[in-house]
Amino acid sequence: MQFSEQPADILARLEELRAADAPTHGGHVLSYVYDSGLAELDELAAAAIRAVQPVNGLDPTTFTSVAVMEGEVVGFARELLGGDSEVVGSVTTGGTESCLLAVKTARDLWASTGSTTERPRLLAPVTVHAAFQKAAHYFGLTLDLVPVGPDGRVDADTLIARLGPDVALVVVSAPSYPHAALDPIEAVAAAAAERGIPCHVDACIGGWVLPFWSGLPAWDFRVPGVTSISADLHKFGYAPKGVSVLLQRGRDRQRAQFFATTQWPGYPVVNPTMLGSKSAGALAAGWAITHALGRDGLAALAESCERSTRALIELVGSIEGLRVVGSPVGPLLAVATDAAAPADRQVDPHHWADQVRAHGWLLQLQPGLAQSDGSVLPHTTHLTITPVTEGVLPELSAALVAAADEVRGVPAVSAADVLGALPGLPDGPLDSETAYALLAGLGLGTGEGALPERMAPVLALVGALPAPLTERLLTELIARVVEPRVE
Ligand SMILES: *Cc1c(COP(=O)(O)O)cnc(C)c1O
Repeated sequence: MQFSEQPADILARLEELRAADAPTHGGHVLSYVYDSGLAELDELAAAAIRAVQPVNGLDPTTFTSVAVMEGEVVGFARELLGGDSEVVGSVTTGGTESCLLAVKTARDLWASTGSTTERPRLLAPVTVHAAFQKAAHYFGLTLDLVPVGPDGRVDADTLIARLGPDVALVVVSAPSYPHAALDPIEAVAAAAAERGIPCHVDACIGGWVLPFWSGLPAWDFRVPGVTSISADLHKFGYAPKGVSVLLQRGRDRQRAQFFATTQWPGYPVVNPTMLGSKSAGALAAGWAITHALGRDGLAALAESCERSTRALIELVGSIEGLRVVGSPVGPLLAVATDAAAPADRQVDPHHWADQVRAHGWLLQLQPGLAQSDGSVLPHTTHLTITPVTEGVLPELSAALVAAADEVRGVPAVSAADVLGALPGLPDGPLDSETAYALLAGLGLGTGEGALPERMAPVLALVGALPAPLTERLLTELIARVVEPRVE
């Protein structure tokens, strides 16, 4: 076969493209990537992916390796998360799919009880991962998001007071992504169980690391009333992207997760997860990594994360004008302005993140949020700490301190600042051209290199515009980013 381009050239181009990515190793990106710092693990994962490259994960009876690996991963996770032999589960392609399936399962079980209310309700603290908003949207549930306190933690009684016969599922997090808050799982699960309502613990980020964290109350299947848990292998299981587990207490519950049909003239379709044909690559990588690390390896990596997290909590607490939000549980934290400092000594967390970026470290900006009770969660900057952080802690700490010194006293970007740049707010749905023109007017065109160096004004925009408009503009931005480039 005469190829139209040579493999070596194609790979050289890919290498060039990869060089422009944010660095996936070395600890300079404090979100998105979960670096064990162990090169052998990356090699092992790559070899495992290659070994199953042609396999179709759709059918574990034809490709029996998939059945064995999935059973072993679920078995490992079940033991880690305090489940007995009544806990069963599936490997999914990621946290979002695990969360979607937890909600789909609960919705179908709720519908099967013959409730008369038209729409079931999905109840959770407002800090619950956006994947649950997506689930409610996809599967037709009414979202009921309960406000949290200034520490990012929901009050158990407030959440419990909203339980009712139309609630198909209550979700709590271990911990929440925005503030690393550990929700009051025991109290909520007990109250839910009393009313026959299932309770999902979203441990997507905590599932593979909290089992080794010191001083925590019970939060997993050891808690009566917890009916399902999601836990991502591609976070603190250190697997490449594309692998998570969803565990469910009780086979009968889990069977509602499946979709099956024989009502078409093709092969019988029996899918526990959302995809049909699927890669077995990330499963094989996650499987190989759990075998290589075992409990002890995971524990050692978690201990490194815990040491680094404690050091960073202390460091941020010592920086004048900044504060850590609440009491983070697990290797992540949110940083806000210390409003108790005099205005000219305060540090805006978004200016800080932009300045830290100029020092070569990427933090994640999080918008503020007005809650349904009128209280406002301030805008913050997020850090996820991984095992590789420990080796770069001195340089990282120096950058965090220096950046704060450089932006101390600079006021946050105000709504007026960003809205002044807009010709006037359109109302009604936007077509793609209008949305793009608005973005360009805000300096957010998507030509080569056009994405902004500083994200604080972009986040200010998120806070200043009505949510549906921002959501439409960001949709336009991301859609344009991947459009074929016309020279
Ligand atoms: C990451 C995360 C998710 C979603 O997982 P993806 O793998 O990004 O789809 C859900 N919940 C929490 C708490 C998370 O941290």
